[in-house]
Amino acid sequence: MRVKKQGEAEGYFIEELRSIFPDIPIFSSLDMHTSMTSRMHSNCDGFVGYKCAPHTDCFETGEHAAKMTINTLENNANAKSAWVRVPILIAGEQSSTSVETMIELIRALRECERKEGLMAASYLMGFSWADNEDGSIAVYVVADGDLELAQKEAVKLAELIWAKKDNFSFQTETYHEKEALDVVFEAVKEGELPIYISDSTDFLKLIMSDNRTDTLRKPIIYGGIYDPIATKQCEGRVGEVITLTFGAKFDTATSSPITTTGIVKAYIKNWSRKGKI
Ligand SMILES: [Zn+2]
Repeated sequence: MRVKKQGEAEGYFIEELRSIFPDIPIFSSLDMHTSMTSRMHSNCDGFVGYKCAPHTDCFETGEHAAKMTINTLENNANAKSAWVRVPILIAGEQSSTSVETMIELIRALRECERKEGLMAASYLMGFSWADNEDGSIAVYVVADGDLELAQKEAVKLAELIWAKKDNFSFQTETYHEKEALDVVFEAVKEGELPIYISDSTDFLKLIMSDNRTDTLRKPIIYGGIYDPIATKQCEGRVGEVITLTFGAKFDTATSSPITTTGIVKAYIKNWSRKGKI
């Protein structure tokens, strides 16, 4: 996590924890897309990252971190961790563990963890969308009492991922904006529905200005535009026709707002996971 004027949040948090509890072992699970930092590394006894993307192993990874803690507290394990930064930037969407190259990489992690003296092995894939100086892939290995072993295994895993660096690819179809629309309208003609596209407000502009849009028999649903100001302007106006400028409140660098006229279909207040409306 990044915090304005603070930089990395986790390093700061763990450093504070360490200063309050200098003698208590600190272990933590991490998201697979962590950007590892020196501050995190030097203030924690050991990390372990998720091995599944999408992250379906949060519980197991937490359990793994807890076991390392218990082993340290009760069985005198002496965690030594090694960290190798691998200068590769990939998008999170390229790290799905249900397809190669990740299948092979995760298998290598599990084999490493089964070796005598190893406590955890992780590929931390970084989060390139956050665009900061810590962004990169990292290999992180924890060994019991043997820093050299941790370092040796981390270098091996780093060499493996480096050798695979050109094999990462998107699992979904990816196109430039105009090409995406051509593919979509072609698919509509073929009757391939539903079609899901993910992009910014600029893409919505493109859809609205394309005259093929008016010929569609089924409506387009465009979801997930973050704009609290525009949302508020719809309050109490359900059923009314209004002109609204919305979008690009969060991402001001790569998208721009849209002004358009339409009907307010619904306004949901105090939304919660329980579905209270
Ligand atoms: Zn993640």
